[in-house]
Amino acid sequence: MPIYEYNCRRCDHRFETIVLSSREKISCPECSSTAIEKQLSVFSAPASDKQADSSTQWLRLHAADLRLSLRVLRRGEEVRQVLANSL
Ligand SMILES: [Zn+2]
Repeated sequence: MPIYEYNCRRCDHRFETIVLSSREKISCPECSSTAIEKQLSVFSAPASDKQADSSTQWLRLHAADLRLSLRVLRRGEEVRQVLANSL
């Protein structure tokens, strides 16, 4: 099923919804406004992961990078401690 991401023009709320029909009237779950914009960064979340939004998707894509950054930061902390102990 296609899941589309929308952005409300009235309250700027971002949400995702499953669109069953192109004629279906979509409204903002926050303010009920129909002044909404379909986002271009659309992806279909797997059925088993309905909670996935664009930010968790981004995190998943960048998890390896983030882990590497953390390792570098931890390594830096170790080096700092070794230097502090040797003084
Ligand atoms: Zn809204």
